[in-house]
Amino acid sequence: MSDCIFCKIIQGEIPSVKIYEDDCVFAFMDINPISTGHTLIIPKMHAENIWEIPEADLAAIHVASKKIAQAMRNALDPLGVAALQLNGRGVNQLVMHYHLHLIPRTAEGPEIALTKWDLIPGNMAAIQKTGEKIAAALR
Ligand code: AMP
Ligand code: ZN
Repeated sequence: MSDCIFCKIIQGEIPSVKIYEDDCVFAFMDINPISTGHTLIIPKMHAENIWEIPEADLAAIHVASKKIAQAMRNALDPLGVAALQLNGRGVNQLVMHYHLHLIPRTAEGPEIALTKWDLIPGNMAAIQKTGEKIAAALR
């Protein structure tokens, strides 16, 4: 989809800190991280939400989420990892390309909100470093 920011990330037209890619899935670091390691997993084929996404892509995203959550556990040793996914403006979906958030919580981090949080730009060098750690744990 030509005006979709996540489609542009998949095409490489907008830079991202990529941590994983396969035939139908792309995963990259959130630039406004709720916590250290906040990652987004998206289908390569544009679909807006849970109602639109084909079942095969949904399944592929969740299979990828298991691999990435394992890598997060190995790389970051979090207290836990929240998998969060919003559908529709009514629950504050901001980017209208399906995405599963994987949000690790560490001992020093606050509780994680469900549908509303402040978008605070992260330190890109730190995001890059954490992304490299997770990507390395995936290999
Ligand atoms: P939501 O649609 O509310 O589930 O959240 C959209 C998420 O996309 C937010 O956490 C944003 O920080 C994130 N986001 C928006 N633009 C980018 C980008 N260019 N690179 C990485 N993450 C992004
Ligand atoms: Zn898209």
